[in-house]
Amino acid sequence: MNADLHCHSTASDGALAPAQVVRRAAERGVSLLALTDHDQLGGLPEARAAAAACGIELVEGVEVSVTWRGITVHVVGLRVDPLDRALQAGLEHVRGGRRRRAQKIGEALAAAGIEGGFEGALALAENPAMVSRTHFARFLVQQGVAEDTRAVFKRFLVEGKPGYVPHQWCQLADALRWIRGAGGIAVLAHPGRYGLSAAAMGELLEEFKAGDGAAIETVTGSHSRGQYREFSELARHYGLAVSRGSDFHGPDEGAELGSLPALEASLTPVWRLPGF
Ligand code: AMP
Ligand code: MN
Ligand code: MN
Ligand code: MN
Repeated sequence: MNADLHCHSTASDGALAPAQVVRRAAERGVSLLALTDHDQLGGLPEARAAAAACGIELVEGVEVSVTWRGITVHVVGLRVDPLDRALQAGLEHVRGGRRRRAQKIGEALAAAGIEGGFEGALALAENPAMVSRTHFARFLVQQGVAEDTRAVFKRFLVEGKPGYVPHQWCQLADALRWIRGAGGIAVLAHPGRYGLSAAAMGELLEEFKAGDGAAIETVTGSHSRGQYREFSELARHYGLAVSRGSDFHGPDEGAELGSLPALEASLTPVWRLPGF
């Protein structure tokens, strides 16, 4: 089965509208698709309607921004109830600081000689409450500052670079509680991106499991083939299920929908877990 359980629409920092994402996934042979916008459930009704129209199964999801020991970690919730009040309130709180942070990013970029970043990023964000580093990256590419968004991140938007502004998201335990409380299954997103030592990764996985986290993404657009194997071994060791998601953000921006290799056959795919 071609399952893609992680992608974004214009409800957060994706380039395509929810219905376009769903149709694109269906055209590429995806049969089980989760829309997982950052801290945001607003794209799900449109995605649900589009999925019904094109015969693809939609999983209602979200990708929650977490601060764990000072670093940003993402937790995907799958099969969450979008009407759950505690989840909605929690996500609203997580979204709260984005606009202010974007202003600070704009100021930091201006200090580095790049003007108009805040206004530029805001203009590219369909939902101003969801203005993200991705919108800054797209704006800077349009300005000719760098050739692609990847390069903008590397030069300006990651820790240690001139446009980086630290931010406090929610606690890991909060994200897990909201997801579980809304009937969802929690998946640790792209663990290979966090730059953690083996010891720290072990502690993160222990804490994740203790909070009823169920699976980790092994096959994701941001892992190398070596990391597919590395995190498959960790899933086995910690008794976690595994998930597969492109983390699609738009055409020509990273991995394409439904395009990644299959999960390791000896592990439990998250969609086979009871309650999925
Ligand atoms: P934010 O939530 O505003 O901090 O933005 C995070 C988003 O930026 C992620 O969800 C990715 O879409 C994007 N992103 C983060 N790091 C990179 C990178 N190195 N290259 C390209 N996009 C990235
Ligand atoms: Mn993103
Ligand atoms: Mn992420
Ligand atoms: Mn994502």
